[in-house]
Parts: sequence; structure tokens; C-alpha cells
Amino acid sequence: GRERLKRLKNTPARTLDGQMVELLANIELPDDCESALDAGAAGIGLFRTEFLFMNRAHHLPGEDEQFEAYRRVVQGMGGRPVTIRTIDIGADKPLDAVDDYRDGEFTHLNPALGLRAIRYSLSDPAMFRVQLRALLRAARYGTLRILIPMLAHAGEIRQTFALLDTARAELAAAGQAYGPAEIGAMIEVPGAVLMLPLFLKYFDFVSVGTNDLVQYTLAIDRADESVAALYDPLHPAVLQLLAQTIAQSHAAEAWKGRPVHVSVCGEMAGDPSLTRLLLGLGLRSFSMHPAQILSVKQEILRADCARLAPLAQAVLAEYEPEGQLRALAALTA
Ligand code: PEP
Ligand code: MG
Repeated sequence: GRERLKRLKNTPARTLDGQMVELLANIELPDDCESALDAGAAGIGLFRTEFLFMNRAHHLPGEDEQFEAYRRVVQGMGGRPVTIRTIDIGADKPLDAVDDYRDGEFTHLNPALGLRAIRYSLSDPAMFRVQLRALLRAARYGTLRILIPMLAHAGEIRQTFALLDTARAELAAAGQAYGPAEIGAMIEVPGAVLMLPLFLKYFDFVSVGTNDLVQYTLAIDRADESVAALYDPLHPAVLQLLAQTIAQSHAAEAWKGRPVHVSVCGEMAGDPSLTRLLLGLGLRSFSMHPAQILSVKQEILRADCARLAPLAQAVLAEYEPEGQLRALAALTA
């Protein structure tokens, strides 16, 4: 039970064949650091900052307020890597203050395909730069990775890096100290996987948002219960995209000269019944709700990656449910 799992807190997440696996926490507010540390997380793989912005009627948190929140997390994790995602508002995460302030400016015909995440941030560069400045200032206090959600276009990537440059210049001009941060992209749109080399060229790391990757690959609104039965993380197309992302990120080291860190931060990463499959596909970094960390670690301690790799490839080769079930059963046997 829980008590036995708890004893695994300080056990290194190492597979039977000696592969080290990074287990990170997903958090929504700075206070969640405590549960991340309690679960023995090696760092924060996803801090969903939109929760700092949601449920606020009239004004958004300013630069200093954001800086304090980010610094608390970076410092609270005591040097462990902290991945902070820029706001992912719109669609399932509405933002009262901004919707108010932009009343009538946008019609959300199809919010999941509309102005959300990085699109929202780029539509209001002044607001985005406030967040980037706050993040860069917090980077001085630990190990910060800045994560950008839902990118799909080269233009969005370039605008993001240009705004980061502007934010640094603004801080320098204001005499504000800031620190270095790795910059990463969420991979959550199938189109991004199909042009992954571009992402691997620009970014230090990538993190697969499988919740949205499933939604956009299968054209299933993740918030629509009438199609919830079709929302299938094990759909062969989803698995192909995931496998490609992991393999290409690892292979990038050969031409880039340094590795591109790849992790999964969607719900799949926290599902212990999928741990072996993900290990077999080559994944070595998982980010999940803190409550899942020890259960996933337990799976890792019992896994043999060398044995799992061919079995995971066999799962990828199955396109029909019966065959896939058989291949999955061999993996967990
Ligand atoms: C995801 O899409 O998998 C993800 C981690 O981001 P969110 O659930 O916040 O959209
Ligand atoms: Mg997402």
C-alpha cells in the first residue's frame, strides 16, 4: 500500500539494467512544491502558470508579483531543475481578467483551435514580456527551464525568441539582474512532430503534452464528454508521434552537438500502467502529478529497458485493438 510506496521516496529511480530515470512533478501553484518534494521529485517538469492568472476578475499579476511566485518555486526546489510554462490560457483554461478586458474583441468559435497558449501570449506581446521578464529575473535563484506551450509555426518560434531578447534588453536597461534559462517547447500539435527538426534546432529541450497531442491527433475535444470514449492515448497514431518525438530528440545530439532533453508531461507520464511502454520507447524523463511519482517509480525499479525496447516496437507495429492488446500484454508480462 501507500506506506510501502513511501519507503521508495529516497530510492534512486533506476531500472534493473541500470538506466537512470528522471521523475518530475507537475504543479499549479508555488505551494505545490511541498508535495513535489514530499514525493521525492527530482524537480518540476511543468508549472502551469495560468493558475496564477485564473479567477482574477480585473487585473493580472504584475511583473513583481509573478517574479515572487516563480522565485519561490525555483528557490523552494533547492537547485533542482524547475520547468515553468508560460501561460496556456484559452480553451479549457479561460482567463476572466483578459476576457473582460478584451470583451468582444475575439469570438471563440472553437476555443481548442483558437487563440490559446502561445497564440494568446503573442497576441499581447506587452503582457507576454511581463511574464518573460519575471521568469528571467527568477532564473538567478536556481535552475530554470522556460517552457512554451502549443507552438506549431516557425514564425511563433522566432517571435518567442525575439521577445525573450527584448525582455532581457528591457531588464538590462532597467538595471535589473537576470539569470540564464534553458528554453523548451511543448510538443502537443501533430504538425509540430512532423517538423520536429525545426524544434530541435531552436530549443534546448522539448516536453510532450500528450493531453493535447491526443486531442489534436484524433480531433477529439478533450472537454467534450460526448466523444470522451474516443479519446485514446494508446491510439496507434498517438504512439507513433510519441515514439518519433523521443527517438528524434535523442538522435539530435549527433547533429546538434548537445543532447535535446525530452520528457512527457501529459497524463500518460503519470499512469503506471504505461510506464513500461514509455521506457521501451526510450523515454527517461517523466513529469506527473506528485501523487503518481512513487507508483511510477515502483514500475521503473522492476523494469528492464533492454528487454522492453523490442516489445515497445512490437506495440507500435500493431494497428488493430486485438493485436495491440496482445503486444501490450507481452510488455507487462
Ligand atoms: C498536455 O497537453 O499534455 C499538458 C501537459 O498540458 P495541459 O494539460 O495543461 O494542456
Ligand atoms: Mg497542453
